[in-house]
Amino acid sequence: MEAGSTDLEGECDGILLLDADGQIIGLELELDSSVSNTDLVFALEHPAITYGQGYRLLITLFAEEPDAQPLSEPVILDFDTAGRLQGCEISAAREFGLGERLARLAPFMIALEDETDLSDVVAARLAHEPTATIDSADAPGTATETIADDPAAADNLVAPPAEPAVASQVRSGFVALVGRPNVGKSTLLNAILGQKVAIVSPKPQTTRIPLRGILSRPDAQVIFVDTPGIHEPRTRLGNYMVDQARRAIPDADVVCMLVDITTPPQRLDERIAALVRRARAPRILVLNKVDLPNPRGAEFLAAYRELGPWDMEVALSALKRQGTELLIDEIITRLPLGPQLYPAEQLTDQSDREHIAELVREQVLRATEQEVPHSVAVEVEEWQEKAQAVYIRATIYVEKDSQKGILIGAGGRMLKRIGSAARRDAETHLGRPVYLDLWVKVRSNWRDDASALHWLGYRPDGS
Ligand code: GDP
Ligand code: MG
Repeated sequence: MEAGSTDLEGECDGILLLDADGQIIGLELELDSSVSNTDLVFALEHPAITYGQGYRLLITLFAEEPDAQPLSEPVILDFDTAGRLQGCEISAAREFGLGERLARLAPFMIALEDETDLSDVVAARLAHEPTATIDSADAPGTATETIADDPAAADNLVAPPAEPAVASQVRSGFVALVGRPNVGKSTLLNAILGQKVAIVSPKPQTTRIPLRGILSRPDAQVIFVDTPGIHEPRTRLGNYMVDQARRAIPDADVVCMLVDITTPPQRLDERIAALVRRARAPRILVLNKVDLPNPRGAEFLAAYRELGPWDMEVALSALKRQGTELLIDEIITRLPLGPQLYPAEQLTDQSDREHIAELVREQVLRATEQEVPHSVAVEVEEWQEKAQAVYIRATIYVEKDSQKGILIGAGGRMLKRIGSAARRDAETHLGRPVYLDLWVKVRSNWRDDASALHWLGYRPDGS
């Protein structure tokens, strides 16, 4: 599968349909209610695909009575930017011998990948259009270029072309900071940059848009990309976040995988590590939260090591800012020589408007419980530089009337509290008085609404 050929991803459970010889002749997918008929427009045009009750998508490519084989891994669905299902990827345990069971599927296949030591992955395309076919001769049994282990190919991807006379010994490059939600990525970024750039909260998934934090020293410039955690997608916004995290890794000069050393690796750590292992760049395992008591630390450390191989390990406390200097040094020695890509005084590529919207969202997350956080988006709608203060009008979008009620609170108290905390942060950031005018509006299901996502600035291509 070509990287970038699809823009959104989802996951669902699936069953392989096999003929009497064990050859795959179809697939049954359990879609959830977030997938609509419009999303299935390509699939439903296909004569061999039916869409049955209970959101079951049945792909029977041959008219035969099949045997069934449940899949242990979820099927990954690929959608285009308009949210239309374009194809899917299935993984199976190595012992299943996926490669040998694909003969009858060859006309529908895009690629067979050898993803990890554990499983084979097949990408198939359901849609007629747009086609990205490959020669059928190339289909089963060949690895795709996207995961090639070819070091020569790596040279084409990393490091901007070396500029001959630019500040000879400066090292510069991109560092992907990956890890499941809540391990401390944003805290680490803020600790390294010494200023509040990324928002932090005890609730997972507070960072939505990948954020570049820029560390400039006379000898180096490090551009950190704080990716949203890879997590089990539920809605389109979830899909977007998974996609972004996947994208950050191949572009990085160094990949730092952050883990919480006070807990054993979870399924998400394993999934992220599998993506990290594919990176050509040096991989650093960052063990965070060493300030906390951790009687089983040695056991957890051994388990995280198993997710490697790692080029380096660094243990630190992002919160207490212990060990962060060492990490920076280890990163810098692994960066290529190259020009400074941003002015030395620039800390982030986030605009003031985006940053203020994030500050408001942070206060909403802090002030509210459960139901509200995941369904909040904030948009700065008006910005006026006035003599006494900056006038900023921002709207907090929620999905339900009940959430709007919670956010406003009795007598408007909740909204006032959110507003004054966000205003203080905004004043610190801008260095001048701010008049913050906050509104709450209901926009139902914005998380699943592709046009709303686009409109709120969640662009799959990261632009
Ligand atoms: P992210 O989702 O990976 O970006 O995680 P955050 O940076 O938002 O942090 C999640 C939570 O973990 C917050 O409550 C942080 O204060 C806390 N945290 C982060 N780093 C550390 C650390 O080194 N020690 C301790 N004790 N807590 C931390
Ligand atoms: Mg974060």
